[in-house]
Amino acid sequence: MTVSPGVQWRVQFDAAVTFSNGGALQAQEFRLDIPGDDIDDGELGELFVRHLGLLMVGSVTISNKSLVQEPHKGSRGTETTAATQRLIDLSHVIEHDMTTHSGLPGPEISDWLSFTDSQGHYSPGTEFHLGKISMVGNTGTYVDSPVHRFRGGQDVSQLELGRLVDVDGIVVRVGERVIDRKLLLAYEVTGKAVLFDTGWDKHWGTAEYTSGLHPFLTEDAARWLVEQRSAVVGIDSMNIDDTTDGKRPAHTALLGAGIPVVEHLTGLDALPPHGFRFHAAPPAVKGMGTFPVRAYALVG
Ligand SMILES: [Zn+2]
Repeated sequence: MTVSPGVQWRVQFDAAVTFSNGGALQAQEFRLDIPGDDIDDGELGELFVRHLGLLMVGSVTISNKSLVQEPHKGSRGTETTAATQRLIDLSHVIEHDMTTHSGLPGPEISDWLSFTDSQGHYSPGTEFHLGKISMVGNTGTYVDSPVHRFRGGQDVSQLELGRLVDVDGIVVRVGERVIDRKLLLAYEVTGKAVLFDTGWDKHWGTAEYTSGLHPFLTEDAARWLVEQRSAVVGIDSMNIDDTTDGKRPAHTALLGAGIPVVEHLTGLDALPPHGFRFHAAPPAVKGMGTFPVRAYALVG
């Protein structure tokens, strides 16, 4: 077995389990995280039993085993391979005139005072630059606070820092466009920063990104995160809601419960499934319901 930093492997297999009190369980094309790039059938059988928390196991038979290189999803009982970086940036760069949402103006970045124009204010050879930016709050990677959705709700200056700084994080890796409650039930999300790695960030800067076909949370999924009292929820998609649903049920549930939402994250595939601290605090601006953040994770 070899372990390459930053490369993660999973194993796909069929399993047949018998129980000492009778009964049996069969699994087809099941996948689990593994620490290296191979695992023997005995170890894999034990891992499968630990992952499912099975009691009274009589025998486990593994067949049709194959290895897949893909990010770990957080199987129970597996030590995840350490990420190569300790500090992982999860933010898009904000640039002049870029598009975050079609229909919203891009940021205008300009000189308020250029180096040349500043020279008269200082000693010869000493110069400064002061930039100016004009933008809507929904620019780049940003956080939504309750007043984005509800009159009288908290603005970004009133968000609890404890929900946005040094928060224990988990990644939920999803291949589905519709992220429903049943996809979340196996995760421990209470008090956590729950980050949805949908892969949609690869479309950033293209028409596809803002096409409206992005992955989103259903109302049921958002309500489950509320019931479980997640600290903050993030997604690498264009919107945490299905934008064809005018009720915006995910925003409504999460912001209604005081749970900030970070949208347009990027680079979540570089994170381990757990074992990192999430940071995404905005400046404390009064009256703004949304504002860009520098989202990043510290691993380990
Ligand atoms: Zn939003």
